[in-house]
Amino acid sequence: MNEYIQSLKKQGKLNVSIDKSKKFNWGYFKIAGPCSVEGESIIEISKEIKKCGADALRAGAYKPCTYPILKETNGWKEGLRKEGLELLKLAKKESGLPIVTEVMDARMIDAVGEVADVFQVGTRNFQNYTLLDELGKQKIPVLLKRGTWGTLDEILGAAERILVGGNQNIAICLRGVVGAPSYRHIWPTIRWTPDLMMIPALKEVTNIPVIYDPSHSTGYRNFVKPVSNAALAAGADGLIIECHPSPQDSISDAAQAIDYNDLKEIFNYEK
Ligand code: PEP
Ligand code: MN
Repeated sequence: MNEYIQSLKKQGKLNVSIDKSKKFNWGYFKIAGPCSVEGESIIEISKEIKKCGADALRAGAYKPCTYPILKETNGWKEGLRKEGLELLKLAKKESGLPIVTEVMDARMIDAVGEVADVFQVGTRNFQNYTLLDELGKQKIPVLLKRGTWGTLDEILGAAERILVGGNQNIAICLRGVVGAPSYRHIWPTIRWTPDLMMIPALKEVTNIPVIYDPSHSTGYRNFVKPVSNAALAAGADGLIIECHPSPQDSISDAAQAIDYNDLKEIFNYEK
């Protein structure tokens, strides 16, 4: 164990135990929903994913796309933004499900916090210290997605930024990392390499819950189920899965979206 981790352990910082009685109950936590809020359909989707066993609805109102503004669909331009937040409010009211949605910028914390039950920090913001420091001052739980480049030390350091600010209600989300996927000639949407071993590695050094994202880490719907099962077998505390009523028609991340039947099957897996 390296010096940095040893010193965090000594300070008790890695022994943070998430208080299960708190507002948010990280456990085998099942999060699902489309990559992004696409319109009023999010209300129906929220009810459907609840029937599939989801504990929370995920969907981005603000979407950090790899290429800016390639797509514009019915007002969707890197997300429906403000309108997306309003629709998430309605979905929450109708389904009763808590909302996990991305906050991309410290200046957006108040607006996104009006609807988010969990702030999602996207991979691109994994080391955005301004954002992490501000989220440390919030009471709303944070799902911190690993940067595609993040080492174990960097994951712990990023998590610590939120913890030292006073927000103890965090979970780390593993979502695939930069690697050398050799699948590209057959499945071009595979961009990342699943980072399954980081689950037990994190469990060795911290009590922070680990949520696995089999959607972004595989990039292809046929691999979502096996990798979900592998993540649970490796000790993940939950899953966050992209799901859509008509997966191939998703505005963003269509190739990795699964349908309700597959979602139900994955969520029924006995840990
Ligand atoms: C997402 O969850 O839709 C997303 C954009 O994820 P990531 O930040 O991991 O790419
Ligand atoms: Mn996505």
